[in-house]
Amino acid sequence: MNDGQRGKRSEALFERARVRIPGGVNSPVRAFRAVGGAPLFVARGEGPHIWDVDGRRYIDYVGSWGPLLFGHAHPRIIDAVREAAASGTSFGAPTEREVVLAERICALVPSIEMVRLVNSGTEATMAVVRLARAATGRACILKFAGCYHGHADSFLIKAGSGVATLGLPDSPGVTPGTAADTLVAEFNDLAGVEALLDAHPRRVACIILEPVVGNMGLVPPADGFLVGLRRLCDTHGALLVFDEVMTGFRLARGGAQELYGVRPDLSTFGKVIGGGMPIGAYGGRRDLMEMVAPSGPMYQAGTLSGNPIAVAAGLAMLDLLDDGTVFRNLEARGRALEDGVCSHVRRLGLDICLQRVGSMWTLFFQPGPVRDWPSAAKSDTARFARFFRALLERGVYLAPSQYEACFVSAAHDDAVIAETVAAIGGALEEAFA
Ligand SMILES: *Cc1c(COP(=O)(O)O)cnc(C)c1O
Repeated sequence: MNDGQRGKRSEALFERARVRIPGGVNSPVRAFRAVGGAPLFVARGEGPHIWDVDGRRYIDYVGSWGPLLFGHAHPRIIDAVREAAASGTSFGAPTEREVVLAERICALVPSIEMVRLVNSGTEATMAVVRLARAATGRACILKFAGCYHGHADSFLIKAGSGVATLGLPDSPGVTPGTAADTLVAEFNDLAGVEALLDAHPRRVACIILEPVVGNMGLVPPADGFLVGLRRLCDTHGALLVFDEVMTGFRLARGGAQELYGVRPDLSTFGKVIGGGMPIGAYGGRRDLMEMVAPSGPMYQAGTLSGNPIAVAAGLAMLDLLDDGTVFRNLEARGRALEDGVCSHVRRLGLDICLQRVGSMWTLFFQPGPVRDWPSAAKSDTARFARFFRALLERGVYLAPSQYEACFVSAAHDDAVIAETVAAIGGALEEAFA
């Protein structure tokens, strides 16, 4: 299946791409900078597998970076897309399905009383921060080092994901004024958050976070952290915003907020609710959402927002969640993967750790536990790169960076998990040889 030789067609395409597309890719981490070599150019996907343009098959744990909860090309989602597309690709006018999707989201996530659809996670977080500022009349936002909230200016301060992978602490092009309005705390450090709130009285509009972080590798919230943030927000008159673009409809039907039992004021979604089509959403308390134009004065708009094809794919995805066994199965597969990998780690006597919540996981090349960005940054990224390449040769495709979450989908059955565990065992031996 994989002969260990890098794909000739992928390499040729990458060379062409680099002439006309910055870095040869349309989103930075795809370029394999952190692991070396040319990225795979993907020809197609089915279930847990992708095939590259050189005809090689891989078990895929990227899943388009989170959306593909049921694997690639799920027949129900593809049918929904076909059917919607046949009636027209976009109208820029209201359609019935948008109402149904909004109703579904509100029914699945109790904190969401109203919701606005946009085209990406970035758009959702950008808008939600504007809304928090509009509602509170305050300028600052408080975020956490290593969390990623898309590429809007205010968030590119100590961000996770590709920003962390490429070691770009702050992006040029973000004005000092914008940077000054972004306060940064360490994840899981309640005392640090409290100190910042005390130092900036009545200036913080919202605390925004990934309730379970995927974008510095998988980092769960410590006991009491989310509840503590809820309390601090209430004390200081700031809004609590959960960025559930990655965790929404993935960790539970109601997202991380259901799993941990904490109710944010506002939330953002993306990824899973589009079934692999471009979509995003922000929503929450009715009194806040009624400030959004044209209901209220906070302006936010979109030519393609609520796109009929994206909405149809999202509805098909949410329909698939009605099967009550989905999250139990994802947890079981995630656990089997964790148990298998950890037994290899013990067999080889390695000082590395796997962190996981449900179907999201990261193998950190360090003893751990990883609880914030300073501890995540201690990972041996050179060793990760060797492991990544050794695993790719064995037909398993992980996120090409230490600082990303990997995703198990409902299409990763027991046999696929067992094949993955065996490949990881071999790749670890090679990486530590
Ligand atoms: C992916 C992601 C975003 C950005 O979404 P895009 O659709 O890539 O713009 C925002 N927040 C989190 C937590 C994400 O994982």
